[in-house]
Amino acid sequence: MAVRTAQKTPAERLLEVLGPVDRFHDRTELGDFGMPARAFMEDILEPVARGGPSSRMGPLEKVHAFWFAGMSCDGCTVSVTGAQAPSVESLVLGAHPGLPRVVLHHPVVNVESGPSYMRAHEMAISGELEGPYVIILEGSISDETRAIETGGYWSGQGEEPWGPDGELRTVSTDEWIARLAPNAAASIAIGTCATWGGVPAADGNPTGAMSMMDFLGKDYRSAFGVPVVNVPGCAPIGDNFTETVAAILYFLQGFGPLPEFDELGRPAWLFGETVHRHCVRGAYYEEGSYADEFGDPECLVEIGCWGPVVNCNITSRGAINHVGGCMNAGGACIGCTMPGFPDKFTPFYKRPPGSLVSTAASRLLGSFVRPLRRYTNDHLNREVRWDLNKEVPSGWSRESSAPTMVQEVGHKFYDRMRRSSDTGRSSGEVWGKREEWTYEHNPEREATQEQIDLAVTDRGKPTNKES
Ligand code: SF4
Ligand code: SF4
Repeated sequence: MAVRTAQKTPAERLLEVLGPVDRFHDRTELGDFGMPARAFMEDILEPVARGGPSSRMGPLEKVHAFWFAGMSCDGCTVSVTGAQAPSVESLVLGAHPGLPRVVLHHPVVNVESGPSYMRAHEMAISGELEGPYVIILEGSISDETRAIETGGYWSGQGEEPWGPDGELRTVSTDEWIARLAPNAAASIAIGTCATWGGVPAADGNPTGAMSMMDFLGKDYRSAFGVPVVNVPGCAPIGDNFTETVAAILYFLQGFGPLPEFDELGRPAWLFGETVHRHCVRGAYYEEGSYADEFGDPECLVEIGCWGPVVNCNITSRGAINHVGGCMNAGGACIGCTMPGFPDKFTPFYKRPPGSLVSTAASRLLGSFVRPLRRYTNDHLNREVRWDLNKEVPSGWSRESSAPTMVQEVGHKFYDRMRRSSDTGRSSGEVWGKREEWTYEHNPEREATQEQIDLAVTDRGKPTNKES
């Protein structure tokens, strides 16, 4: 018996303790609890959300999405409501061709409350709901069997007459997940708490916090055969989530294969790269220039950035609508998308030990590369005409950038190297490719008609390539 219990998932163990449910609220009279207008979100949106049978594509007209919050700060909700590509509004209005419209059941967004809000949840459990449903969890799962021992709960949503003799009791988030997951079309964990355990599961962990995957077990598959989908981040990028939902809906609609997920259930196209590879400060790292304190523009690795070893796309996608994001806003990466977060990244804002080797190498290389680049950058900041006239005609004190003798020699050498592989090169002077011939206030440099004719004829010559 003990062995059999050990093999059960935490979800199965919880349901074993709670037993089945067989009664729900009286649906003939839900009352006015918090909603005197007795309006249901689905009813309000349906007339504007559904374009009619002719605009429907695929077998599914709608998919219910049940959102639950476990051990959570609601940051995931804040991120997702700001998503732009696609937005929540466009999903619930069915604005995407081919996608079923999403009937969202979210405790923050919906107009219903009390028993009215719980009605669709009950119908999903009893199999009466029209259309398939997905479940979404933000925040980690706590071990409610510990709380039950003292008669309480860690996190819950709504009350149901599931107590002894129909007595109302708060239904924990874990219970909803355990009861709804087996028949869900997909189970999606959003944010690092739901995907891996996150902050509530950090060292100490008094609630026994865990991820949705830990709770449902590795053998879990949704009704459509999909394991738990994980979109991590603390808070996650809202667009990462809505884009993943849209991709899954296309799959459920039969319009395409299941998009590619990695071995941890992350959308592979979103989490395949490290932060560092697209960081706006990456060139500073390569040149060996590092920030000493926050507010400096250079690479943040020496003040605690883990970007080179963290899977996250915020550097290419931004926080919302390609705006913001950690390094763009001056923050170092603390690895918030990773399963090892936070324990493997603490203490925060201390240099990651593994960066010592690479930063030493970059510093050494950078000490050569930086002066050379400055040298060439200086050269490229002068128009050819200014070089020939040895004067920068700017009222913004640019005269100081006129080339010195050493720079002239260096850049002539550099230009020869640059043009050595140019198969279309002319026989003209290097460094600028052309002679200046008229300049009114500098008669010494005034070209003769002969020089002008020669220049024109030179330009008209066929290139080596053409001949
Ligand atoms: S700030 Fe972080 S992610 Fe950006 S270049 Fe430096 S180490 Fe890489
Ligand atoms: S860059 Fe790092 S800290 Fe910022 S969101 Fe990505 S993983 Fe989290």
